Amino acid sequence: MKVRTRFAPSPTGFMHIGNLRTAIFEYLVAKKYDGDFILRIEDTDQNRKVEGAIDFIYKTLELCGFKIDEGPNNPKEYGPYIQSERKDIYKKYALDLVEKGKAYYCFCTESELEEMREKANARKKPFLYDGRCSKLSKEKIEENLKNGVPYVIRQKMPKIGSTIVDDLIYGKVKIDNSILDDQILLKSDGFPTYNFANVIDDHLMEITHVIRGKEYLDQTAKYNLLYEAFGWEKPTYIHVAMVLGSDGNKLSKRNGDASFMDLYEEGYLPEAIVNYLVLLGWSPENNQEVFTMEELIKSFNEKRISKSSSQYDVKKLNWFNHKYINNLSDEKYLEYIKPFLTHDISDKSEEWVNKLLLIYKDHLSYGKEINELVNIFFNDEINISNENKEFLESDENIPIVIKAYKEELENLKDWNTEEIAEVINKVKEKTGVKGKLLYMPIRIKISGVEHGPELPDEIFLIGKEKVINRLS
Ligand code: GLU
Repeated sequence: MKVRTRFAPSPTGFMHIGNLRTAIFEYLVAKKYDGDFILRIEDTDQNRKVEGAIDFIYKTLELCGFKIDEGPNNPKEYGPYIQSERKDIYKKYALDLVEKGKAYYCFCTESELEEMREKANARKKPFLYDGRCSKLSKEKIEENLKNGVPYVIRQKMPKIGSTIVDDLIYGKVKIDNSILDDQILLKSDGFPTYNFANVIDDHLMEITHVIRGKEYLDQTAKYNLLYEAFGWEKPTYIHVAMVLGSDGNKLSKRNGDASFMDLYEEGYLPEAIVNYLVLLGWSPENNQEVFTMEELIKSFNEKRISKSSSQYDVKKLNWFNHKYINNLSDEKYLEYIKPFLTHDISDKSEEWVNKLLLIYKDHLSYGKEINELVNIFFNDEINISNENKEFLESDENIPIVIKAYKEELENLKDWNTEEIAEVINKVKEKTGVKGKLLYMPIRIKISGVEHGPELPDEIFLIGKEKVINRLS
């Protein structure tokens, strides 16, 4: 049987990194077994729907290097791939369950349900529908239907015994049937609930491996009962523990947690994000950390997905991104980094800009960071901290060294890094000063800070006029 996995997001126009990590696992399982990766849009909650969200999901997955084998924009014979377009299908199967005695019409009004909820609250019990409509006579049901009384269809749960969920990561999990609610399968507006639609779709789309958040693990007992009621084979379940935000809380847009697009716009490379995320809750057999997509597909072993939740750590992401940036060819790097540069470069030559950007290739954690790093080459004013000011006054040789630099640089005819490097040697000979006292004063005077790129490069790029001014 061909392996088929699916990514099933709601079209909210926002993909947090936890969702994306699930997609990565789904993609890797499919590709490892030469299978298909399917995109299904779960829009049964129409209130959360956002215009353009489907294209946004395609774009995100494409940027991450995933090929969607089937989905709304490239349908095959298993479509439609958008749940709101499958309403007739769900209705047919819901009625089939009613026929089989595994589901029933429920005509309860909102106030009746509210009363049940209040009773449950008073007894400090979770609300479970009391099943009263499962006892309606055939005649009553027919009469109600004829009179157009609004209804939902509920799943009839066994009240005793237990149901086992067999999960690849968590093993056999036993759920007491007594806690299972006669959940709604079909809502009064004809839309299915997620709890129903996921089963119907996974079966009809021949999904072999269902990979999703651990929060669905207990619910899966209900899904298993549906599979059994229909006499369908269950998929392999792989429930994955949550990715928590850096503060240890659930990831959410509201908490200001980064989404994939936020990170992408900050200048994180999609390959680095994928590489970082896959190791959040999965570990390879060896200690390899940096993976190409092909390597990931080969090494991925779903049995090694972790049982415990993991925490998003931007420092680790920066480490990966730094590595990926550094591995780009110079040409690719320039192409990547240039759009992030917001400083005015209209009076600079392309050669100057490229040289500047290349110097920082080895220093960057993410694209936008470039602006901060190159500030000193654009600002007219530089800030020297008090500590550095004290340093400049700490040795009588410092003013002598600075004066020597100024004179030598002023006299320089060709402004290039070779000549500038020569100047440093000359100042050394002339003043007899070496080491920190030779390099640090000029660095601080021209840039304000004690660290930076190679000194001749730094002097060259700041430019003759600015350097002389700052040394004066
Ligand atoms: N729409 C569900 C979600 O975004 C999908 C869960 C599943 O994969 O079944 O959480």
